[in-house]
Amino acid sequence: MAATNLVRMALVVQKYGGTSVGDADRIRAVAEHVARTRAGGDDVVVVVSAMGKFTDDLIRLADDVSPHRPPREMDMLLTAGERISMALVSMALGAVGVESASFTGSQAGIITDTDHTKAKILEIRPDRIREALDAGLVPVVAGFQGVSTERDITTLGRGGSDVTAVALAAALKADVCEIYTDVTGVYSADPRVAPKARRLAKVSFDEMMEMAATGGRVLMLRSVEFARRHHVPLHVRSSFTWEPGTWIVEEDPTMEEAIVSAVTDDTSEAKVTVGGVPDRPGVAAQLFRHLSDAKVNVDMIVQNTSLHGTTDISFTVAKTDLDAAMAACEVVRAAIGAATLTCDDGIGRVSLVGAGMKSSPGVTAMMFETLSAHGINIEMISTSSIRISCVVRADRVVEAVRALHTAFGLDAA
Ligand code: ADP
Ligand code: ASP
Ligand code: MG
Repeated sequence: MAATNLVRMALVVQKYGGTSVGDADRIRAVAEHVARTRAGGDDVVVVVSAMGKFTDDLIRLADDVSPHRPPREMDMLLTAGERISMALVSMALGAVGVESASFTGSQAGIITDTDHTKAKILEIRPDRIREALDAGLVPVVAGFQGVSTERDITTLGRGGSDVTAVALAAALKADVCEIYTDVTGVYSADPRVAPKARRLAKVSFDEMMEMAATGGRVLMLRSVEFARRHHVPLHVRSSFTWEPGTWIVEEDPTMEEAIVSAVTDDTSEAKVTVGGVPDRPGVAAQLFRHLSDAKVNVDMIVQNTSLHGTTDISFTVAKTDLDAAMAACEVVRAAIGAATLTCDDGIGRVSLVGAGMKSSPGVTAMMFETLSAHGINIEMISTSSIRISCVVRADRVVEAVRALHTAFGLDAA
Protein backbone atom coordinates (compact mmCIF):
# COMPACT_ATOMS: atom_id res chain seq x y z
CA MET A 1 0.00 0.00 0.00
CA ALA A 2 1.05 3.58 -0.68
CA ALA A 3 0.32 4.59 2.93
CA THR A 4 4.00 4.60 3.83
CA ASN A 5 4.86 7.01 1.01
CA LEU A 6 5.09 10.64 2.07
CA VAL A 7 4.39 11.94 -1.41
CA ARG A 8 1.07 10.75 -2.76
CA MET A 9 1.18 9.46 -6.30
CA ALA A 10 -1.26 11.12 -8.64
CA LEU A 11 -4.23 9.19 -9.95
CA VAL A 12 -4.78 9.84 -13.64
CA VAL A 13 -7.81 8.77 -15.66
CA GLN A 14 -6.80 8.47 -19.32
CA LYS A 15 -9.58 8.24 -21.91
CA TYR A 16 -8.70 7.11 -25.42
CA GLY A 17 -11.15 7.89 -28.23
CA GLY A 18 -11.89 5.82 -31.35
CA THR A 19 -8.93 6.92 -33.50
CA SER A 20 -6.57 6.55 -30.54
CA VAL A 21 -7.34 2.81 -30.44
CA GLY A 22 -8.12 2.55 -34.19
CA ASP A 23 -5.78 -0.36 -34.99
CA ALA A 24 -3.19 -2.65 -33.42
CA ASP A 25 -0.37 -0.10 -33.79
CA ARG A 26 -2.42 2.60 -32.06
CA ILE A 27 -3.34 0.20 -29.27
CA ARG A 28 0.32 -0.68 -28.73
CA ALA A 29 1.18 3.04 -28.65
CA VAL A 30 -1.49 3.55 -25.99
CA ALA A 31 -0.09 0.68 -23.92
CA GLU A 32 3.39 2.18 -24.10
CA HIS A 33 2.08 5.57 -22.96
CA VAL A 34 0.27 4.01 -20.02
CA ALA A 35 3.51 2.18 -19.14
CA ARG A 36 5.42 5.50 -19.28
CA THR A 37 2.86 7.18 -17.03
CA ARG A 38 3.16 4.36 -14.52
CA ALA A 39 6.94 4.48 -14.68
CA GLY A 40 6.63 8.18 -13.76
CA GLY A 41 5.00 7.07 -10.50
CA ASP A 42 1.32 7.73 -11.20
CA ASP A 43 -1.60 5.34 -10.97
CA VAL A 44 -3.70 5.06 -14.13
CA VAL A 45 -7.28 4.11 -14.91
CA VAL A 46 -7.86 3.70 -18.65
CA VAL A 47 -11.23 4.33 -20.34
CA VAL A 48 -11.60 3.28 -23.97
CA SER A 49 -13.94 3.95 -26.89
CA ALA A 50 -14.75 1.48 -29.65
CA MET A 51 -12.04 1.14 -32.32
CA GLY A 52 -12.19 3.71 -35.13
CA LYS A 53 -15.67 4.00 -36.60
CA PHE A 54 -16.80 0.64 -35.22
CA THR A 55 -19.88 2.12 -33.52
CA ASP A 56 -21.06 3.56 -36.87
CA ASP A 57 -20.42 0.18 -38.55
CA LEU A 58 -22.56 -1.56 -35.94
CA ILE A 59 -25.39 0.95 -36.46
CA ARG A 60 -25.24 0.29 -40.21
CA LEU A 61 -25.44 -3.45 -39.58
CA ALA A 62 -28.52 -2.92 -37.42
CA ASP A 63 -30.13 -0.87 -40.20
CA ASP A 64 -29.36 -3.67 -42.66
CA VAL A 65 -31.29 -6.25 -40.67
CA SER A 66 -34.22 -4.17 -39.47
CA PRO A 67 -36.10 -0.98 -40.34
CA HIS A 68 -36.36 -0.26 -36.62
CA ARG A 69 -33.73 0.38 -33.98
CA PRO A 70 -35.12 -1.21 -30.80
CA PRO A 71 -33.31 0.77 -28.08
CA ARG A 72 -32.54 -2.12 -25.73
CA GLU A 73 -31.05 -4.25 -28.51
CA MET A 74 -29.15 -1.27 -29.95
CA ASP A 75 -27.46 -0.83 -26.57
CA MET A 76 -26.59 -4.53 -26.39
CA LEU A 77 -25.09 -4.25 -29.87
CA LEU A 78 -23.15 -1.00 -29.51
CA THR A 79 -21.56 -1.84 -26.16
CA ALA A 80 -19.78 -4.70 -27.95
CA GLY A 81 -17.49 -2.11 -29.59
CA GLU A 82 -15.98 -0.90 -26.32
CA ARG A 83 -15.74 -4.47 -25.03
CA ILE A 84 -13.41 -5.34 -27.90
CA SER A 85 -11.13 -2.35 -27.27
CA MET A 86 -10.94 -2.86 -23.52
CA ALA A 87 -9.77 -6.47 -23.88
CA LEU A 88 -7.23 -5.60 -26.59
CA VAL A 89 -5.81 -2.65 -24.63
CA SER A 90 -5.53 -4.83 -21.55
CA MET A 91 -3.66 -7.51 -23.53
CA ALA A 92 -1.37 -4.88 -25.08
CA LEU A 93 -0.60 -3.62 -21.56
CA GLY A 94 0.32 -7.13 -20.50
CA ALA A 95 2.67 -7.36 -23.48
CA VAL A 96 4.62 -4.29 -22.28
CA GLY A 97 4.81 -5.61 -18.74
CA VAL A 98 1.95 -3.67 -17.15
CA GLU A 99 -0.48 -5.83 -15.20
CA SER A 100 -4.06 -4.90 -15.95
CA ALA A 101 -7.64 -6.11 -16.09
CA SER A 102 -10.55 -4.97 -18.24
CA PHE A 103 -14.03 -4.12 -16.93
CA THR A 104 -17.35 -3.50 -18.65
CA GLY A 105 -19.34 -0.44 -17.58
CA SER A 106 -21.50 -2.68 -15.45
CA GLN A 107 -18.48 -4.25 -13.71
CA ALA A 108 -17.06 -0.77 -13.14
CA GLY A 109 -20.25 0.13 -11.25
CA ILE A 110 -21.72 2.66 -13.69
CA ILE A 111 -25.41 2.59 -12.72
CA THR A 112 -27.77 4.43 -15.08
CA ASP A 113 -31.44 5.16 -15.57
CA THR A 114 -33.44 3.05 -18.04
CA ASP A 115 -33.40 5.55 -20.92
CA HIS A 116 -31.77 3.30 -23.54
CA THR A 117 -29.37 4.89 -26.08
CA LYS A 118 -29.05 8.07 -23.99
CA ALA A 119 -29.00 6.87 -20.40
CA LYS A 120 -27.92 9.14 -17.56
CA ILE A 121 -25.55 8.00 -14.81
CA LEU A 122 -27.36 7.80 -11.47
CA GLU A 123 -24.60 6.43 -9.33
CA ILE A 124 -21.05 5.06 -9.53
CA ARG A 125 -19.91 2.17 -7.35
CA PRO A 126 -16.32 1.71 -8.47
CA ASP A 127 -15.40 -0.91 -5.85
CA ARG A 128 -13.85 -3.28 -8.36
CA ILE A 129 -11.82 -0.47 -9.92
CA ARG A 130 -10.49 0.54 -6.48
CA GLU A 131 -9.65 -3.07 -5.67
CA ALA A 132 -7.79 -3.42 -8.97
CA LEU A 133 -5.82 -0.23 -8.25
CA ASP A 134 -5.01 -1.41 -4.74
CA ALA A 135 -3.76 -4.69 -6.22
CA GLY A 136 -1.37 -2.70 -8.44
CA LEU A 137 -3.29 -3.28 -11.68
CA VAL A 138 -4.25 -0.79 -14.36
CA PRO A 139 -8.04 -1.09 -14.75
CA VAL A 140 -9.19 -0.70 -18.37
CA VAL A 141 -12.85 0.33 -18.46
CA ALA A 142 -15.21 0.17 -21.45
CA GLY A 143 -16.52 3.70 -22.02
CA PHE A 144 -20.01 4.75 -23.12
CA GLN A 145 -21.86 2.03 -21.19
CA GLY A 146 -23.51 1.19 -17.91
CA VAL A 147 -26.16 -1.01 -16.37
CA SER A 148 -29.64 0.27 -15.62
CA THR A 149 -31.64 0.06 -12.43
CA GLU A 150 -33.61 -2.64 -14.34
CA ARG A 151 -30.33 -4.57 -14.84
CA ASP A 152 -30.24 -3.97 -18.59
CA ILE A 153 -27.14 -2.82 -20.44
CA THR A 154 -27.37 0.86 -21.46
CA THR A 155 -25.34 3.39 -23.45
CA LEU A 156 -24.77 7.03 -22.55
CA GLY A 157 -25.31 8.65 -25.96
CA ARG A 158 -22.85 9.21 -28.82
CA GLY A 159 -19.46 10.37 -27.60
CA GLY A 160 -20.37 9.00 -24.17
CA SER A 161 -16.94 7.59 -23.30
CA ASP A 162 -16.02 11.13 -22.27
CA VAL A 163 -18.77 10.94 -19.62
CA THR A 164 -17.53 7.57 -18.37
CA ALA A 165 -14.03 8.98 -17.96
CA VAL A 166 -15.12 12.11 -16.11
CA ALA A 167 -17.59 10.23 -13.92
CA LEU A 168 -14.93 7.70 -12.88
CA ALA A 169 -12.41 10.49 -12.29
CA ALA A 170 -14.94 12.21 -10.00
CA ALA A 171 -15.86 9.01 -8.14
CA LEU A 172 -12.22 7.99 -7.66
CA LYS A 173 -11.18 11.58 -6.81
CA ALA A 174 -8.57 11.44 -9.57
CA ASP A 175 -6.13 14.33 -9.88
CA VAL A 176 -6.79 14.78 -13.59
CA CYS A 177 -8.89 13.34 -16.38
CA GLU A 178 -6.92 13.25 -19.62
CA ILE A 179 -8.93 13.01 -22.86
CA TYR A 180 -6.67 11.63 -25.59
CA THR A 181 -7.88 12.25 -29.12
CA ASP A 182 -6.77 12.86 -32.72
CA VAL A 183 -6.15 16.62 -32.37
CA THR A 184 -3.64 18.29 -30.05
CA GLY A 185 -6.25 20.08 -27.93
CA VAL A 186 -9.26 22.37 -28.13
CA TYR A 187 -8.98 24.81 -31.02
CA SER A 188 -10.52 28.20 -31.82
CA ALA A 189 -12.64 26.29 -34.40
CA ASP A 190 -12.77 22.71 -35.62
CA PRO A 191 -9.35 22.43 -37.32
CA ARG A 192 -10.93 20.27 -40.01
CA VAL A 193 -13.29 23.12 -40.89
CA ALA A 194 -11.03 26.14 -40.33
CA PRO A 195 -7.42 25.32 -41.27
CA LYS A 196 -6.26 28.54 -39.58
CA ALA A 197 -7.67 27.52 -36.19
CA ARG A 198 -5.34 27.92 -33.21
CA ARG A 199 -4.93 25.66 -30.21
CA LEU A 200 -6.18 27.25 -26.99
CA ALA A 201 -3.96 26.74 -23.93
CA LYS A 202 -6.88 27.12 -21.50
CA VAL A 203 -10.65 27.19 -21.85
CA SER A 204 -13.06 27.94 -19.00
CA PHE A 205 -15.76 25.39 -18.17
CA ASP A 206 -18.44 27.91 -19.19
CA GLU A 207 -16.92 28.43 -22.61
CA MET A 208 -16.30 24.71 -23.12
CA MET A 209 -19.94 23.97 -22.29
CA GLU A 210 -21.14 26.48 -24.87
CA MET A 211 -18.67 25.07 -27.41
CA ALA A 212 -19.72 21.47 -26.74
CA ALA A 213 -23.41 22.43 -26.92
CA THR A 214 -22.99 24.12 -30.30
CA GLY A 215 -20.94 21.56 -32.20
CA GLY A 216 -17.39 21.51 -30.76
CA ARG A 217 -17.60 17.74 -30.51
CA VAL A 218 -14.09 17.32 -29.15
CA LEU A 219 -15.75 16.88 -25.71
CA MET A 220 -19.26 15.58 -25.14
CA LEU A 221 -21.40 18.26 -23.45
CA ARG A 222 -22.44 16.09 -20.53
CA SER A 223 -18.83 15.30 -19.67
CA VAL A 224 -18.04 19.01 -19.37
CA GLU A 225 -21.11 19.61 -17.17
CA PHE A 226 -20.11 16.68 -14.98
CA ALA A 227 -16.50 17.84 -14.72
CA ARG A 228 -17.53 21.34 -13.71
CA ARG A 229 -19.98 20.12 -11.09
CA HIS A 230 -17.43 17.77 -9.54
CA HIS A 231 -14.34 19.97 -10.02
CA VAL A 232 -12.52 17.45 -12.21
CA PRO A 233 -9.59 19.08 -14.05
CA LEU A 234 -9.78 18.11 -17.74
CA HIS A 235 -6.83 17.98 -20.11
CA VAL A 236 -7.59 17.42 -23.82
CA ARG A 237 -4.51 16.17 -25.70
CA SER A 238 -3.19 14.11 -28.57
CA SER A 239 -2.50 10.38 -28.58
CA PHE A 240 -0.38 10.87 -31.70
CA THR A 241 2.15 13.47 -30.48
CA TRP A 242 1.56 13.12 -26.70
CA GLU A 243 2.35 16.85 -26.30
CA PRO A 244 0.53 18.90 -23.63
CA GLY A 245 -2.84 20.10 -24.95
CA THR A 246 -5.67 22.26 -23.59
CA TRP A 247 -6.74 22.53 -19.95
CA ILE A 248 -10.39 23.10 -19.13
CA VAL A 249 -10.34 25.15 -15.95
CA GLU A 250 -12.50 27.13 -13.54
CA GLU A 251 -12.83 30.73 -14.62
CA ASP A 252 -10.09 32.88 -13.12
CA PRO A 253 -11.49 36.31 -12.27
CA THR A 254 -8.09 37.93 -12.74
CA MET A 255 -7.75 36.53 -16.26
CA GLU A 256 -8.28 38.94 -19.15
CA GLU A 257 -11.12 37.31 -21.06
CA ALA A 258 -11.03 37.02 -24.83
CA ILE A 259 -14.13 38.61 -26.36
CA VAL A 260 -14.44 35.74 -28.82
CA SER A 261 -12.51 32.54 -28.07
CA ALA A 262 -13.97 30.19 -30.63
CA VAL A 263 -16.29 29.67 -33.57
CA THR A 264 -18.27 26.44 -33.63
CA ASP A 265 -20.36 24.72 -36.28
CA ASP A 266 -23.13 22.15 -36.13
CA THR A 267 -25.03 20.49 -38.93
CA SER A 268 -26.56 17.76 -36.80
CA GLU A 269 -29.87 19.55 -36.21
CA ALA A 270 -33.06 20.05 -38.21
CA LYS A 271 -35.74 22.73 -37.97
CA VAL A 272 -39.41 22.04 -37.29
CA THR A 273 -42.08 24.68 -37.93
CA VAL A 274 -45.69 24.61 -36.78
CA GLY A 275 -47.54 27.22 -38.84
CA GLY A 276 -50.86 28.97 -38.25
CA VAL A 277 -50.81 28.34 -34.51
CA PRO A 278 -53.71 30.03 -32.66
CA ASP A 279 -52.12 32.81 -30.60
CA ARG A 280 -53.49 32.10 -27.12
CA PRO A 281 -52.00 31.17 -23.75
CA GLY A 282 -51.18 27.50 -23.21
CA VAL A 283 -50.55 26.51 -26.82
CA ALA A 284 -46.74 26.62 -26.63
CA ALA A 285 -46.91 24.86 -23.27
CA GLN A 286 -48.94 22.03 -24.83
CA LEU A 287 -46.53 21.67 -27.74
CA PHE A 288 -43.34 21.58 -25.70
CA ARG A 289 -44.86 19.33 -23.02
CA HIS A 290 -45.59 16.75 -25.73
CA LEU A 291 -42.05 17.05 -27.07
CA SER A 292 -40.59 16.65 -23.61
CA ASP A 293 -42.78 13.59 -22.92
CA ALA A 294 -41.45 12.13 -26.18
CA LYS A 295 -37.92 12.72 -24.76
CA VAL A 296 -37.07 15.14 -27.56
CA ASN A 297 -34.52 17.78 -26.63
CA VAL A 298 -35.49 21.11 -28.15
CA ASP A 299 -32.75 23.63 -28.82
CA MET A 300 -33.38 27.04 -30.42
CA ILE A 301 -36.99 28.31 -30.37
CA VAL A 302 -38.40 31.20 -32.39
CA GLN A 303 -42.00 32.46 -32.37
CA ASN A 304 -43.06 35.01 -34.95
CA THR A 305 -45.24 38.02 -34.18
CA SER A 306 -48.83 37.06 -34.57
CA LEU A 307 -50.79 38.08 -37.63
CA HIS A 308 -54.61 37.83 -37.64
CA GLY A 309 -54.54 35.85 -34.38
CA THR A 310 -52.14 33.12 -35.53
CA THR A 311 -48.39 32.70 -35.35
CA ASP A 312 -45.56 30.37 -36.43
CA ILE A 313 -43.37 28.49 -33.96
CA SER A 314 -40.02 27.10 -35.16
CA PHE A 315 -37.46 25.15 -33.19
CA THR A 316 -34.43 22.96 -33.78
CA VAL A 317 -33.91 19.34 -32.70
CA ALA A 318 -31.20 16.74 -33.31
CA LYS A 319 -31.77 15.08 -36.70
CA THR A 320 -31.81 11.77 -34.84
CA ASP A 321 -34.89 13.01 -32.91
CA LEU A 322 -36.66 14.46 -35.95
CA ASP A 323 -39.10 11.58 -36.50
CA ALA A 324 -40.10 11.57 -32.83
CA ALA A 325 -40.45 15.37 -32.87
CA MET A 326 -42.66 15.34 -35.99
CA ALA A 327 -44.89 12.63 -34.53
CA ALA A 328 -45.32 14.54 -31.25
CA CYS A 329 -45.99 17.81 -33.10
CA GLU A 330 -48.58 16.24 -35.39
CA VAL A 331 -50.65 15.19 -32.37
CA VAL A 332 -50.56 18.72 -30.97
CA ARG A 333 -51.07 20.35 -34.37
CA ALA A 334 -54.32 18.45 -34.85
CA ALA A 335 -55.45 19.12 -31.27
CA ILE A 336 -54.91 22.90 -31.41
CA GLY A 337 -56.01 23.31 -35.01
CA ALA A 338 -52.70 24.67 -36.36
CA ALA A 339 -52.57 24.89 -40.15
CA THR A 340 -49.22 23.36 -41.08
CA LEU A 341 -46.32 21.23 -39.85
CA THR A 342 -43.07 21.26 -41.81
CA CYS A 343 -39.43 20.35 -41.28
CA ASP A 344 -36.13 21.30 -42.84
CA ASP A 345 -32.97 19.22 -42.44
CA GLY A 346 -30.81 21.48 -44.60
CA ILE A 347 -29.92 23.87 -41.80
CA GLY A 348 -26.62 24.44 -40.00
CA ARG A 349 -25.59 26.56 -37.08
CA VAL A 350 -22.56 28.78 -36.56
CA SER A 351 -21.82 30.18 -33.12
CA LEU A 352 -19.37 32.56 -31.51
CA VAL A 353 -18.29 31.71 -27.96
CA GLY A 354 -16.33 33.98 -25.62
CA ALA A 355 -16.44 34.82 -21.92
CA GLY A 356 -15.59 38.46 -22.68
CA MET A 357 -18.78 38.89 -24.74
CA LYS A 358 -20.65 39.69 -21.52
CA SER A 359 -19.04 43.12 -21.44
CA SER A 360 -18.58 43.79 -25.15
CA PRO A 361 -21.44 45.17 -27.17
CA GLY A 362 -20.95 45.13 -30.92
CA VAL A 363 -20.12 41.44 -31.32
CA THR A 364 -23.60 40.69 -32.62
CA ALA A 365 -23.50 43.52 -35.15
CA MET A 366 -20.09 42.42 -36.40
CA MET A 367 -21.24 38.82 -36.70
CA PHE A 368 -24.27 39.82 -38.78
CA GLU A 369 -22.18 42.19 -40.94
CA THR A 370 -19.64 39.44 -41.62
CA LEU A 371 -22.32 36.94 -42.68
CA SER A 372 -24.08 39.58 -44.77
CA ALA A 373 -20.82 40.53 -46.53
CA HIS A 374 -20.66 36.89 -47.66
CA GLY A 375 -24.30 36.89 -48.75
CA ILE A 376 -25.17 34.32 -46.07
CA ASN A 377 -28.79 34.59 -44.95
CA ILE A 378 -29.58 34.28 -41.23
CA GLU A 379 -32.69 32.20 -40.53
CA MET A 380 -32.74 32.02 -36.72
CA ILE A 381 -30.76 33.65 -33.92
CA SER A 382 -30.21 32.71 -30.30
CA THR A 383 -27.90 34.08 -27.64
CA SER A 384 -26.61 33.43 -24.13
CA SER A 385 -24.42 35.81 -22.14
CA ILE A 386 -21.29 34.28 -23.69
CA ARG A 387 -22.56 32.93 -27.04
CA ILE A 388 -24.35 34.02 -30.22
CA SER A 389 -25.70 31.42 -32.66
CA CYS A 390 -27.12 31.88 -36.16
CA VAL A 391 -28.92 29.25 -38.19
CA VAL A 392 -27.93 29.41 -41.86
CA ARG A 393 -28.14 26.99 -44.82
CA ALA A 394 -26.02 23.89 -44.07
CA ASP A 395 -24.01 24.30 -47.26
CA ARG A 396 -22.84 27.77 -46.17
CA VAL A 397 -21.59 26.71 -42.73
CA VAL A 398 -17.94 26.12 -43.64
CA GLU A 399 -17.68 29.49 -45.38
CA ALA A 400 -19.40 31.18 -42.41
CA VAL A 401 -17.01 29.62 -39.87
CA ARG A 402 -13.92 30.65 -41.83
CA ALA A 403 -15.23 34.19 -42.41
CA LEU A 404 -16.08 34.70 -38.72
CA HIS A 405 -12.78 33.18 -37.61
CA THR A 406 -10.93 35.74 -39.73
CA ALA A 407 -13.21 38.68 -38.88
CA PHE A 408 -12.77 38.18 -35.14
CA GLY A 409 -8.98 37.99 -35.40
CA LEU A 410 -8.66 34.32 -34.48
CA ASP A 411 -6.62 33.14 -37.49
CA ALA A 412 -3.21 31.68 -36.66
CA ALA A 413 -0.34 33.86 -37.84
P1 ADP B 1 -12.63 10.87 -30.11
O1 ADP B 1 -12.93 9.68 -30.97
O2 ADP B 1 -11.21 10.90 -29.66
O3 ADP B 1 -13.59 11.05 -29.00
P2 ADP B 1 -13.96 12.95 -31.58
O4 ADP B 1 -14.08 12.73 -33.05
O5 ADP B 1 -15.16 12.73 -30.74
O6 ADP B 1 -12.71 12.11 -31.08
O7 ADP B 1 -13.45 14.45 -31.29
C1 ADP B 1 -12.28 14.93 -31.90
C2 ADP B 1 -12.64 15.76 -33.12
O8 ADP B 1 -13.36 16.91 -32.70
C3 ADP B 1 -11.47 16.32 -33.87
O9 ADP B 1 -10.98 15.41 -34.81
C4 ADP B 1 -12.04 17.58 -34.50
O10 ADP B 1 -12.32 17.42 -35.87
C5 ADP B 1 -13.35 17.82 -33.77
N1 ADP B 1 -13.50 19.17 -33.26
C6 ADP B 1 -14.61 19.93 -33.40
N2 ADP B 1 -14.42 21.14 -32.87
C7 ADP B 1 -13.19 21.17 -32.36
C8 ADP B 1 -12.41 22.17 -31.68
N3 ADP B 1 -12.91 23.38 -31.40
N4 ADP B 1 -11.15 21.85 -31.31
C9 ADP B 1 -10.64 20.62 -31.56
N5 ADP B 1 -11.31 19.65 -32.21
C10 ADP B 1 -12.57 19.91 -32.61
N1 ASP C 1 -18.11 4.58 -29.31
C1 ASP C 1 -19.10 5.57 -28.92
C2 ASP C 1 -19.42 6.50 -30.07
O1 ASP C 1 -18.87 6.36 -31.15
C3 ASP C 1 -18.72 6.33 -27.69
C4 ASP C 1 -17.47 7.17 -27.80
O2 ASP C 1 -16.66 6.97 -28.70
O3 ASP C 1 -17.30 8.04 -26.94
O4 ASP C 1 -20.25 7.36 -29.93
MG1 MG D 1 -15.49 11.97 -28.80
